[in-house]
Amino acid sequence: MSAVILDGKALAKSREQQLQAAVRNLQDSGGLQPVLATILVGDDPSSATYVQMKINACGRVGMGSRCINLPATTTTEELLTTIDQLNQDSDVCGILLQHPVPEHIDERLCFDAIAIDKDVDGVTTQGFGLMAMGEQAFGSATPAGIMTLLKHYDIQLSGKHAVVLGRSAILGKPMAAMLLNANATVTICHSRTENLAELVAQADIVVGAVGKPELIKAAWIKDGAVVVDAGYHAGGVGDIEKTGLEKRVAALTPVPGGVGPMTINALISQTLQSAEQKGILKASLAG
Ligand code: NAP
Repeated sequence: MSAVILDGKALAKSREQQLQAAVRNLQDSGGLQPVLATILVGDDPSSATYVQMKINACGRVGMGSRCINLPATTTTEELLTTIDQLNQDSDVCGILLQHPVPEHIDERLCFDAIAIDKDVDGVTTQGFGLMAMGEQAFGSATPAGIMTLLKHYDIQLSGKHAVVLGRSAILGKPMAAMLLNANATVTICHSRTENLAELVAQADIVVGAVGKPELIKAAWIKDGAVVVDAGYHAGGVGDIEKTGLEKRVAALTPVPGGVGPMTINALISQTLQSAEQKGILKASLAG
């Protein structure tokens, strides 16, 4: 067996062409130019790179961006004020608050201050709740991107056993909810899970989101599984060890070039959806 490579880079590139055309159509029909506001707090170089990649993607598809860089000394109250201003700004369709913020800031409070209609990164408690209930909401960008990738490659989820390693609010938990909504049988593992290897060995679909290089061992993964690695570490290493996997699993995401590009694509797709929804709202108010 030779694994299908779930090529997020190629898929994101082709979806960007569709997004570019959709942005042009929206503007030609008198709609808004979608604008994503990004908030970066502090000077962490990786976070700055991730934000820049998102801004670049907006530019490639013709969307605008508003970049707000705040010093590491910013207080929770100051950040809340910035978010509130962006919530009120009718030119802004989506707000991205780059995770993580400095430790002294109440990140959850700030995420939850983002207006639900501008929560294009899918980080609010309300958005998570709606998504988990199968209602209309923007999904958390990384798991939403993974779901798009799996759908594109026609990966069967219904009735399959998915094992998600990691339970963070932005990745593991929403990933598990999305897989459950797609009728997978879901096991969530975390740092207190016992018998990690035995649980992973039962998985038809493995999602690695633990933030530790190659913590999930290739030998744990059964033949024919679908392997999704959300991790990225120095040297192009993910959260899942890949040794020998390509010859015996059904499909796997490369690192880099798998999940990362799809995260950005989900974010800008959802910003466009927000702009489209606002255009409709504007039209109905005018009418
Ligand atoms: P996080 O907030 O640090 O969460 C890590 C999760 O892994 C936690 O739930 C933790 O369990 C669990 N974990 C840690 N050690 C474990 C162990 N030994 N056994 C089992 N579970 C363990 O990380 P995150 O933000 O969700 O990110 C996860 C990974 O995805 C990272 O590699 C990150 O770089 C990557 N990521 C990629 C993208 C992208 O666009 N490609 C976006 C976001 C994140 P506890 O809850 O018990 O502590």
